[in-house]
Amino acid sequence: MIPKLEVHGVSYSYHSADGETLALSNISFSVDSGQFWAIVGPSGCGKSTLLSLLCGLLKPDQGEILLDGLPLSRDLTSVGYMLQKDHLFEWRSILSNVALGLEIRKQLDGQSRQELKSMLRAYGLEGFEQAKPSELSGGMRQRAALIRTLALKPDLLLLDEPFSALDYQTRLSVCDDISGILRESKKTAILVTHDLSEAISVADRILILSPRPGRIKAAITIEFPDCASRPLDRRNCPEFSIYFNQVWKELKTDE
Ligand code: ADP
Ligand code: MG
Repeated sequence: MIPKLEVHGVSYSYHSADGETLALSNISFSVDSGQFWAIVGPSGCGKSTLLSLLCGLLKPDQGEILLDGLPLSRDLTSVGYMLQKDHLFEWRSILSNVALGLEIRKQLDGQSRQELKSMLRAYGLEGFEQAKPSELSGGMRQRAALIRTLALKPDLLLLDEPFSALDYQTRLSVCDDISGILRESKKTAILVTHDLSEAISVADRILILSPRPGRIKAAITIEFPDCASRPLDRRNCPEFSIYFNQVWKELKTDE
């Protein structure tokens, strides 16, 4: 089976007036279809840069990125990108916010509008179609942002610290929700986070990056019993603290 995503020896530098900053060095990994990966590493190690490379916003200086076995093309309609800030437009209703991507692609019709409404219902936003973003809680806004991303039917989803603007309690439950949604819909997803517990509670595999320039320090496969598939259940398993210590140790050996 061809992996969903392959990254081969990718390096990237930023060029500015002050010179060159090597952000990522010789990154290689491959993600199978339907897997949920997390990437952790210290602030500034190149996590966001890596996601920008994966969605084609940046081009690697060296190396190659393949999606479904083919080089990334310019027209990346199959990759969805979700950021820390929800970027909902305050002057638009929730329904017209979640419809924005489809509207831009000129794919908004009766059927896609019905699909949006049923996603809003499925994700607990029924009755808020005409509300403005400011009338929603942080968690509801983040779910709306997810619907807007999923509406475009990406089969690879890149999430850059999507929960970090939320308070702790909300964050736990939104993370639980969203990872459940992604698993049910069998999406391949890559979540960047600096929160180790979050990574362990959602991922099948965790990539640990070194401080800048980001290199892969370790990759750890995460396995929990079937009865603990949800993030909140995983947190209560004895394996959780074992993985936590393992990832923590890998991160700490930088100091
Ligand atoms: P992370 O998401 O892990 O915090 P980033 O990918 O945002 O890290 O950044 C990696 C490194 O590249 C940082 O040291 C940052 O200062 C540098 N960097 C990021 N964006 C730019 C840019 N536009 N120009 C120059 N340097 C940048
Ligand atoms: Mg970042």
